[in-house]
Amino acid sequence: MHMFKRMITRRAALISGLALGAAGFSTAKVMELSADPVGEKDCGPWVSPAAGDAAAITVDTSAPLAAELDWAQQAGLINDASCLNATAVYGIVRVHSEADVRNALLFAREQGLKIAPAGVRHSMGGQAFAPRALILDMRAFNRIELDEGSRTITVQSGATWHEIQNLLHPRFAVKAMQSTDIFTVGGSIAVNAHGMDHQVGAIAQTIRSMRVMLADGSVQTVSRSENPELFRLVVGGYGLFGIILDAVLEITENVIYAAGRRVVDYREFPALFRDELAANSGLGLMYAHLSTAPQSLLRELILYTYEAQDVPDALIPPLGEVSSVKLRRFVLNFSKTGELPMRLKWFAEKNIEPRLESCSVTRNQAMKDGEACLVSRNEPMHDSVPYLRNNLRSETDILHEYFVPRENFTAFVDGVRQIVQAERVNLLNASVRVVHREEIFLNYAPVDVFSLVLYINQMTDLAGEEKMRRVTSQLIGLTTQMGGRFFLPYQLHYTAGQLEQSYPEIRAFFAAKRQYDPEQRFTNTFYEKYAPEL
Ligand SMILES: Cc1cc2nc3c(=O)[nH]c(=O)nc-3n(C[C@H](O)[C@H](O)[C@H](O)COP(=O)(O)OP(=O)(O)OC[C@H]3O[C@@H](n4cnc5c(N)ncnc54)[C@H](O)[C@@H]3O)c2cc1C
Repeated sequence: MHMFKRMITRRAALISGLALGAAGFSTAKVMELSADPVGEKDCGPWVSPAAGDAAAITVDTSAPLAAELDWAQQAGLINDASCLNATAVYGIVRVHSEADVRNALLFAREQGLKIAPAGVRHSMGGQAFAPRALILDMRAFNRIELDEGSRTITVQSGATWHEIQNLLHPRFAVKAMQSTDIFTVGGSIAVNAHGMDHQVGAIAQTIRSMRVMLADGSVQTVSRSENPELFRLVVGGYGLFGIILDAVLEITENVIYAAGRRVVDYREFPALFRDELAANSGLGLMYAHLSTAPQSLLRELILYTYEAQDVPDALIPPLGEVSSVKLRRFVLNFSKTGELPMRLKWFAEKNIEPRLESCSVTRNQAMKDGEACLVSRNEPMHDSVPYLRNNLRSETDILHEYFVPRENFTAFVDGVRQIVQAERVNLLNASVRVVHREEIFLNYAPVDVFSLVLYINQMTDLAGEEKMRRVTSQLIGLTTQMGGRFFLPYQLHYTAGQLEQSYPEIRAFFAAKRQYDPEQRFTNTFYEKYAPEL
């Protein structure tokens, strides 16, 4: 996530290095904490209950359509970014064209199989697959067409934001996406992703229209005016209503921003937002980090702002890949190991990082001392977070997100702090985002909210899973008590009752799913777990 990029610097690593000496860290340990991943993360002892028996599955290769499909895998296991959800599937087919989606659908119907579309599988509760299902790997279905006149792109659903940004830069930029660029458009629409642009809101706001293939093979155009009910169901619908083929998305100018930051007490944030930030129409991007250091846990808040500037002679460099990946990975992984390293990480973000800001945009004329730090919009949004991937065994890092009405923010953060302290949660990051009321069917934000994004390290054994289940349940309970909702692309550590409390429309959502897809062809682990109970 972008949040990590700015906090992990050479200087931070230097300080960490000093602490290492004190802590007696060996070179081998440093190498382990910073090593590049050698492949998919191995979750060590944990075996997912859904893993099933992959050996018991055989693909019917004699079926005529089987030869038409581009099999990435027949039978075997699939997993997601959490590495906790290994699941035996019928197979994985690569999608290159609309015909591939149709053939896969026909094949599934002939064979009586369920289908799930998958992007880069960064949902963390098996939302992009299900036991024994046929999985469509959408990533090669990624054509992007730019229409400068209408300021839109028409994009196939397997394209990632990274690919889109590479095409749009330097003139244009994505309007709404997550805070990092690795995700597919299909996976983002299916969760109604949101990010750093607090004015635009979630991706739903930027969709002009989409073409969706339904379970009967028909292709429907859906937008706010055409098939509006389906639009509200497909956006944030977790792939349960059809396969999004392509979408027409609004884009925006690659605006030049002055990057700013300030440290405030978390209790000041709601009024600061209401009285100053919300009223500033020039503020293009905005988010905050809460302290994860023990002495200021979830109290100190660094506010990051990006304010539009008129710089006619700006020189915008090409987009680069994230630098110092091993250092960044090391600092993050080191911070998991104890209170002192965590203090150092927060200290570095607060005190050292501001002096080392990457101000990539320059002027044709020499910049004067003390001039603002300029970046173009694409830069903070172009982060592929390679440093979040690692080889560490027996542990993994899990995302959570909770949305609470803005007036309850302070009380909510106080409640989260209590849970984190009581349960000794290894909290790596806590981001605050501004999220506007959304209009989709399965809606995480029926009113204007602030959201709290937590990145938590857990052990991948039974005890680690049980602890995360307990913590998640408490955090969801607190959120509900505060009139808020939890984000659904993460672990399924909640009961059907908690789901319904948070999303009272869930029964109607599942009923609509059965109406549009009577054979329940489209599925995922979330649907298979909760639909039978609701
Ligand atoms: C490190 C990290 C950071 C994150 N940051 C943010 C953030 O800043 N903001 C935010 O909102 N979320 C964030 N998320 C959550 C993320 O947006 C979702 O998990 C998103 O779905 C990921 O996209 P994906 O391509 O990995 O989708 P997948 O996980 O592959 O799929 C997600 C869902 O989309 C469905 N789907 C995929 N493709 C299609 C298609 N073509 N048609 C129909 N359905 C489809 C799948 O079936 C599944 O239900 C983050 C997650 C992680 C792990």
